[in-house]
Amino acid sequence: MQKYPTFLGAILTGRIIKGTNNIFSIDCEDGVVRTCGIKGKVLKKSKGLYNPLAAGDFVNIEVDTHDENEGMILDLIERKNKFLRENQKTNTPQLLAANIDLLLCVTSVANPPFRPRFVDRVLVQAEIQHIPVLIVLNKSDLEIADEVKTRCEDWRRLGYTVQFASAKNKTGIDEIIEKISGKTIATVGQSGVGKSSLLNAISPELDLKTAEISNKHDRGTHTTTQGELFKIIAETSDGKKHSVNLIDTPGIRSFVVSGIDARDVAAYFPELEELIVQCKFGLSCTHTKEKGCKINEALANGEILPDRYISWRSIYDELKVKTSY
Ligand code: GDP
Ligand code: ZN
Repeated sequence: MQKYPTFLGAILTGRIIKGTNNIFSIDCEDGVVRTCGIKGKVLKKSKGLYNPLAAGDFVNIEVDTHDENEGMILDLIERKNKFLRENQKTNTPQLLAANIDLLLCVTSVANPPFRPRFVDRVLVQAEIQHIPVLIVLNKSDLEIADEVKTRCEDWRRLGYTVQFASAKNKTGIDEIIEKISGKTIATVGQSGVGKSSLLNAISPELDLKTAEISNKHDRGTHTTTQGELFKIIAETSDGKKHSVNLIDTPGIRSFVVSGIDARDVAAYFPELEELIVQCKFGLSCTHTKEKGCKINEALANGEILPDRYISWRSIYDELKVKTSY
């Protein structure tokens, strides 16, 4: 309960919980969640983005002069970072979450099949904004193929954190809670990997819909690409409580990297980055067929995991189409 009611017309800071059609729910500093539109047409700091604001954004609002629970967004407070993906229909970057401390990239060891290249794309996108990533391999109660283990070892070798978990058997949950404690985190994952089940295991009060209880029709009608922020309390098995700001983004099919040119992609693969400078052809090397290319040499010598090279190549080729060189 508020001690003193906020006067109508007051200017407050708040954080975006969710938004649809440019109407946002904002958790304001006085503890009230208000429904707000955007005042004026352009939010300059969001120019060029598919959607001007995302869950996790901090904004200044003006409380409505008639209704205490409504207001207008006046201004966006500079973002610490933004997690994006390319909206393929419009070819513009789409904001998924803002101001995050950690990104949880949820994938499954099997069923749906392990998709390391989806993870690599997310890693590149996060690296662009210097957002740390925790790679979570859910469904580790199922048989884990050697190919999965090799990939995970390689990610670890490159400095990424990988956590095996099972929402079904409740393993790895404490470890994840310890890593997200006190942070604003965002999730990203392909549909069916068990992201909702995993988040429910982390915080049962979330009660997110999982495949079992949402029928197909329901899923279709609620398809949205906007994230939603939840303030949760997660409890580890020792009884300790951890507060977390969780921005859950809906499951997606594919992830297209946004905001860089094809030739920059290698710089966001740690194992390729260190080789670029040694390339005979310098920054103009495409690392595809040039003789004497250090990256091709490293690949031939087994210093780079071939599947990571293929991953780099697929992002490179995809972005190359959009550039003129
Ligand atoms: P989401 O689309 O990523 O949110 O996935 P859901 O949470 O809806 O789960 C998709 C399916 O995977 C459901 O049938 C779940 O029961 C199943 N599932 C979720 N987590 C696990 C797990 O850890 N192990 C196994 N074997 N199945 C799981
Ligand atoms: Zn090269």
